[in-house]
Amino acid sequence: MKILANDGIDPVGKNILEQAGFVVDTEHIKADDLFNRLNEYDAITVRSSTQLPMELIDAAPNIKLIGRGGVGMDNIDVAYARAKGIKVVNTPAASSLSVAELVFSHLFSGVRFLHDAQRKMPAEGANSFAKLKKAYSKGVELRGKTLGIIGFGRIGQEVARIGLGLGMHVIVSDLLEVPETISVSFASGHTVDLPVQKKELIEVFMEADFISFHVPFTEAPVLGRSEFAFLKQGVGLVNTSRGGVIDEEALLEALDSGAVSFAGLDVFQDEPTPSQAILAHPKISLSPHIGAATGEAQERVGVELANLIVAHFSVLKQHVND
Ligand code: NAD
Repeated sequence: MKILANDGIDPVGKNILEQAGFVVDTEHIKADDLFNRLNEYDAITVRSSTQLPMELIDAAPNIKLIGRGGVGMDNIDVAYARAKGIKVVNTPAASSLSVAELVFSHLFSGVRFLHDAQRKMPAEGANSFAKLKKAYSKGVELRGKTLGIIGFGRIGQEVARIGLGLGMHVIVSDLLEVPETISVSFASGHTVDLPVQKKELIEVFMEADFISFHVPFTEAPVLGRSEFAFLKQGVGLVNTSRGGVIDEEALLEALDSGAVSFAGLDVFQDEPTPSQAILAHPKISLSPHIGAATGEAQERVGVELANLIVAHFSVLKQHVND
């Protein structure tokens, strides 16, 4: 059995597959060439960059499994693949903690202006130290503030754990029922159940000092132009979910007017070519969609994916033997 790991796979995951007798090819095959070459394989694993549309699925009738290392499957025609009997799997939980930690990288950066200081210090630090010191002197602490979480699924819950651990009040909004408490574990081995309060979306917008977005891709922004009016003056916003969840134009205006004090963005409306106005804005802490990009998360993704592949092909083999 041959597996094409077209966007790479962690070495531990690759090893699990090889130990189980699979041949794993980690060469990246470009989109055009995939039409001719994908059929050489029994399964393909991808992250977010390889696209698997209907036409490509049709061009590779030998493919029995598509594995997505990560959460969103917008790059795969999942319904079509499944209708053709192809198993489609992903690893939704493996990177949640890494994304949650990135949220706090942006929050800590935002409340102390680190994103702007990092840009200005190399050029101006030596000559204008006192001026920069004054410019960044109005920082605030996270402890005691209210953190609003929109979308209380896997990542939203990890964000809550970190926020609660920091001494923040956590209020959440979700379309579904959410737990009233959440377990927070410490390195000491202690675990405590701490309360989270569910609110209406608009209440979170009105009450939170910082808001982090963890919803799936949506056609219309969750924080659209009209909702900006409800936000608490000087709120900080973080979006690590999907571009378009916050209306970027309205965000730029709110940053310029001071209605929003800063934003942390890992995802963008026009990925992979975000707007220059967003990239250049001094009140935005930026990262290039790296929420899941830690060694630990990628190892968990690789191991989970490898185990899913091994399990699926052993079931298929069993059917053949039966
Ligand atoms: P999840 O499915 O576990 O949770 C999403 C939650 O959002 C669900 O509980 C759902 O009910 C809720 N929801 C949906 N629409 C809502 C709305 N309008 N208002 C309030 N709640 C709503 O998903 P997850 O694993 O936590 O992932 C969240 C997002 O993070 C996804 O968009 C995913 O693609 C993205 N993500 C980004 C990165 C990155 O690298 N930045 C990595 C992994 C995941």
